[in-house]
Amino acid sequence: MTEKTMKKYYIKTFGCQMNAADSDMFSEYLISCGYLPTDTPDNADIVIINTCSVRQHAEERAFTEIGDMKHYKAANPNGKVIVVGCMAENLGDEIKKKYQQVDLVIGAKNTQNFPEIMTQSGIIQKGIAAAVAKNDNKISSHITIMRGCNNFCSYCIVPYVRGPEQSKPVDEILKEITDLTERGIKEISLLGQNVNSYFSNNVDFADLLAKVSEIKNIKRIRFMTNHPKDVSDKLLKSISTLNKVCHHIHLPLQSGSDKILELMNRKYTFENYYQLVRKIRYYISEISITSDIMTGFPTETDKDHKATIEAINKIGFDFTYVFKYSPRSKTEAFKLKDDVTKEKKEKWHKELLDLCNSIAKERNTKLIGTLSEVLVESSADTPEINDDKKEFFGKGRDNRGIVFRSAKNLIGQSINVKITQAKIHSLIGEVEN
Ligand code: SF4
Repeated sequence: MTEKTMKKYYIKTFGCQMNAADSDMFSEYLISCGYLPTDTPDNADIVIINTCSVRQHAEERAFTEIGDMKHYKAANPNGKVIVVGCMAENLGDEIKKKYQQVDLVIGAKNTQNFPEIMTQSGIIQKGIAAAVAKNDNKISSHITIMRGCNNFCSYCIVPYVRGPEQSKPVDEILKEITDLTERGIKEISLLGQNVNSYFSNNVDFADLLAKVSEIKNIKRIRFMTNHPKDVSDKLLKSISTLNKVCHHIHLPLQSGSDKILELMNRKYTFENYYQLVRKIRYYISEISITSDIMTGFPTETDKDHKATIEAINKIGFDFTYVFKYSPRSKTEAFKLKDDVTKEKKEKWHKELLDLCNSIAKERNTKLIGTLSEVLVESSADTPEINDDKKEFFGKGRDNRGIVFRSAKNLIGQSINVKITQAKIHSLIGEVEN
């Protein structure tokens, strides 16, 4: 069978890294069934739209994508359109009713059963052999170690669409990672809505980090995301003592106002959070701390907004994602009036984003002249620069993206890069000989 005659699949992924990890799993499965990936739905036999429900905007984009599949279906009547993920869980009936072009809907609670559902539905014929070995030269991969969430932050739909926390058994995780190392993976990111509350067979998250560290060919371990209330001293000790565990923690603050934090049901005050940050920096001085901030939560006032600005200034995050509150039906916050005007949300969002970006740039600028140990992930041709070098991309142990040029192919290697320039989202450097 030639590449031209082989069946193809196309995946469009919205949302978080957990969705990206699920899309990787779908991809692996389809490749093992003899399919090839394609970067356009036009020539695909299977189109998967992996959806997110966390914000209205993400839902709107997914709806547009699903709507556009009408043209795909008209041109490819035998093609299959599959909608998966959080929106599929939340709005599955509506999607099935409204969009005739959709063949199959798989909710977020069922994504791990994707292979069985694909064969049961007849889209994939049972017994197809693993025809193609995956060889995508990837250095870094992520695996989902737990699904669901028990925290019920008042604005969040995840506990409703992904269900209660379920930790994947340790042996399964270790086997998956070991298998990945056989394909050249050197860096693994452990994913969950709240990895700190991982618990399976008497193994907690700190223990799991130690076990993953023992896998010989894994050079780096990352993890996300963390709930501040569950970051234990034991975990901090593990991060500081296990060499392979990267020095980065994503710690969503959401708001600097205690009133808003309480309404969000975040279960900490700003002071609790601040003391935790101090403790983290005490254990691991060079750690990078990134965060999420939400603005325009119901009842939020200028005073609350000011408290958030003060909190951001006091902590100095290495990078921050800033979001506008988006009401989600089923959640507790949905019962509150969405009373912050659109204009105010825009204004606050811009102020916070500008502040967070300027702090990120300032913190990156302080790194100019220092060395970073970079695990090189990928390269790109930059035809506008006429030399024999290529541009390479990798990450430091602190999760900062670093771009540099080299004539040698360094993908997969750990090298020292001297930082020469700082941007908001990345650094530029030179290989240190
Ligand atoms: S911790 Fe809160 S924000 Fe995160 S997934 Fe759970 S409920 Fe949502």
